[in-house]
Amino acid sequence: MDFQLDSEQKMIVESARQVGRRFGAEYWRRLDAAKTFPREYWQAVCDAGLCGVALPGEHGGSGLGMMEMALIVESLAATGGGSTVGQLFMINPIFGGVSLSRFGSEAMRRELLPQIIAGKINCCMALTEPDAGTNTLEMKTFAAADGSGWRLNGQKIWITGVASADKMLVVARTSKLSEATSRTDGLSMFMIDVKRAGLTHAPIDKLGTCTLDSSSVFFDNVRVEAHELVGTLHKGWRELLDVLNTERIVTTAGLVGTGDLAIRLAVDYAKDRKVFGSRPIGAYQGIQFPLAQCHVEVEAARLLNYKAATNFDRGLPYGSESNAAKLLAAQATARATERAMQTMGGMGYAKEFDVERLWRDCRLFKFAPVSEEMILNYVANHDLGMPRSY
Ligand SMILES: Cc1cc2nc3c(=O)[nH]c(=O)nc-3n(C[C@H](O)[C@H](O)[C@H](O)COP(=O)(O)OP(=O)(O)OC[C@H]3O[C@@H](n4cnc5c(N)ncnc54)[C@H](O)[C@@H]3O)c2cc1C
Repeated sequence: MDFQLDSEQKMIVESARQVGRRFGAEYWRRLDAAKTFPREYWQAVCDAGLCGVALPGEHGGSGLGMMEMALIVESLAATGGGSTVGQLFMINPIFGGVSLSRFGSEAMRRELLPQIIAGKINCCMALTEPDAGTNTLEMKTFAAADGSGWRLNGQKIWITGVASADKMLVVARTSKLSEATSRTDGLSMFMIDVKRAGLTHAPIDKLGTCTLDSSSVFFDNVRVEAHELVGTLHKGWRELLDVLNTERIVTTAGLVGTGDLAIRLAVDYAKDRKVFGSRPIGAYQGIQFPLAQCHVEVEAARLLNYKAATNFDRGLPYGSESNAAKLLAAQATARATERAMQTMGGMGYAKEFDVERLWRDCRLFKFAPVSEEMILNYVANHDLGMPRSY
C-alpha cells in the first residue's frame, strides 16, 4: 500500500490543473447562467490528452488507469468546474470509452474510440426509465429482433447530455422478462446515433448542473443495426455493471474536487472577512471546526475512491468500494458546500462567489447515479450478508 503519487501521476495532476485554471470558475458561472454545454472546455481537456488517459493506446488513449482518471477529474473539478467535470468524464470516457473498449467490436473501437478521445464526438447513456426508476431491471424499453438488427421502442428519463451527444449507449430488453431465466437476463446494450429517425428528446427543467441538459428520450420504432450491439446479446447486465461502477469512480472524483474547492473558497473568505473588530471570522472555532470536519470527510471519500480505482486497474473486485466512496463523497461534499455557504454568509448566496453553484450541483449525487438508500441496501446485503428488504 503506497499513498504517494508517482512522478507520472504528479505530472498528470499538474497538467489537469493547468487546463482547469485556463478556464477558472468565471467560465463555469457564465455557462451555468446560459445553460450551455462546456464545449471549449471539453475540447481543451481532450487536446491535453486527459479524456483518453485510461483508454487503450492503440486507439489514441494513454493506456493508464482509472486511478489516473480519478486524479484528473478531481484536479479539474477543484479549479472551478465542480461536480460537472465528473459528469463530462462520465458521458465520454466512461459511457462511450469503457463500454466500447471493454465490450465493443473491433470495428466499433477503431471507429469511435479515437473520436471520443479527441473530443470529436460526445456520448450519453440511456438507462433510467420513468416507471422503473431505481428498479432498473423493470425497464420496458424493448429492442425487437427485425431482420439482421432490431426495432427499438420505449422511453427513458433524466438522460444527461443528450442535446450535445452524437452517440447514445442504450440499455434495452431484448427478450421478454416473462421468458427470461432471471431478472438480469435478456438485457442488451447498443451504441446508436442520437440523430436517428424515431428518436426524440425533450429537456427537463431542473435545479442545477445547468451546463448539461437532462432529457426525456422517446424511441418510436428506432432502427438498430446488427453492428451496433455492444457486448453480449441478452447478457448485457453483467457487462453494464463495469460501466456503472466506473461511473461511480469519476462521479466521486468530481465530488471530492468540489469539496476541495468549496472548502478553499470558504477558508480564503473566512481569513479575510472581519465583522467584530480586527479578528477575521476564520479565527473563530465555530467557523473552523465545521470546515475542518468537512475536510477530513472529503479526504476519507478520496482515499476510498483511490482504493476503488486501484482495484479496478488491478482487475480486483471494486463494486463495493466504488459505491461506498460515492456515498461518502456525496454526503461529504453536500456538507462541505453547505458549510462553505454558511461561512460566507450572504456572499455564499451570491452567484459571484460560486459556492451556490457548487451547492446546487452536488445535491444531485445523493440520489444519482445511484441513491444513498440503494448503496446502503447493497452494502447491507452484499457486504454484510443481511437479508434483502425489498
Ligand atoms: C440530473 C440527473 C441526471 C441523470 N443522468 C442520468 C443519465 O445520464 N442516464 C441515466 O440512465 N439516468 C440518469 N439519471 C437517473 C438517476 O440515475 C435516477 O434518478 C436515480 O437512479 C434514482 O431513480 P429515480 O429518480 O427514479 O428515483 P426512485 O426510484 O423513484 O426512488 C425515489 C426514492 O426512493 C428510494 N428507494 C427506492 N427504492 C428503495 C428501496 N428498495 N429501499 C430504500 N429506498 C428506496 C430511492 O433511494 C429514492 O430516494 C439522472 C438523474 C438526474 C436527476
